[in-house]
Amino acid sequence: MIIDVHGHYTTAPAALGAWRDQQVAALPGRGPSASALKISDDELRESIETNQLKKMQERGSDLTIFSPRASFMAHHIGDFETSSTWAAICNELCFRVSQLFPDHFVPAAMLPQSPGVDPATCIPELVKCVEQYGNVGLNLNPDPSGGHWTSPPLTDRSWYPIYEKMVEYDIPAMIHVSTSCNACFHTTGAHYLNADTTAFMQCLQGDLFKDFPTLKFLIPHGGGAVPYHWGRFRGLAQEMKKPLLSDHLLNNIFFDTCVYHQPGIDLLTKVIPVKNVLFASEMIGAVRGIDPETGHYYDDTKRYIEAAALSNENRLAIFEGNARRVFARLDTQLKAKGL
Ligand SMILES: [Zn+2]
Repeated sequence: MIIDVHGHYTTAPAALGAWRDQQVAALPGRGPSASALKISDDELRESIETNQLKKMQERGSDLTIFSPRASFMAHHIGDFETSSTWAAICNELCFRVSQLFPDHFVPAAMLPQSPGVDPATCIPELVKCVEQYGNVGLNLNPDPSGGHWTSPPLTDRSWYPIYEKMVEYDIPAMIHVSTSCNACFHTTGAHYLNADTTAFMQCLQGDLFKDFPTLKFLIPHGGGAVPYHWGRFRGLAQEMKKPLLSDHLLNNIFFDTCVYHQPGIDLLTKVIPVKNVLFASEMIGAVRGIDPETGHYYDDTKRYIEAAALSNENRLAIFEGNARRVFARLDTQLKAKGL
């Protein structure tokens, strides 16, 4: 089985975006109710069958961990109530997709984060998503301000209530920012990759995993700049008298394969231990075109894993085994189906 651990509902019916536009236009008022949004199962089916599912079948992946569109989270807009209603709507849609296509999609939650608001306020939504919707992971935004970095680092104790819940449920968080509202940072070309690198460095500076030895973070987009600059991070850890990165971070931090060219994947799988690399494509996401050098979609990342110098055993670990280990609740769900 090939498990893609990083997919978003980027193709939701247009009514979703129209509802959000009304919500934003009504600020600081409350805008339309959640129940004002009507999307039928047929509309959901069509939006998936003609997009993500079609490409999964063409490319040969089986199951996608599916979360709300990352750039739409936009936690910086409005207040906690704004984010709370919006997150509930987006999470419900991913849950419905997982019910319509139970063999191909399993949901992961976005949280109703809001700048300056205690992260503990996100817990009721998280509990609902895990206990009622069967979510196997969550997306945690380290910068709800959208590019201004007004929140404390991920090692700050204010984040701990979320980590306590994650450990209790044994679910990992993908560290994932949303739209940049800082003109200096392009959302997917700069802000996402900056955040990946920043999250790793915050963990390196702190001792978070001493407090939470079983906490798991997935750093997407191949880990931002981290694998490429692994020597810098090793050297900084040494200067700071931290343990070796293999002990300090690599029991808890994992990287996905959303790197859109062969040399990047070759480097990732050479520098980072295979046990820390999980297959992902972020399809359909930021980079949707065809690479003229290869004639294939940039985000068809399965091809790069297949072409990388890996043993069969290691390739299987990246495609399936590591995902089942990191997303323990997914493994439980699959075993219950005899998979
Ligand atoms: Zn993403």
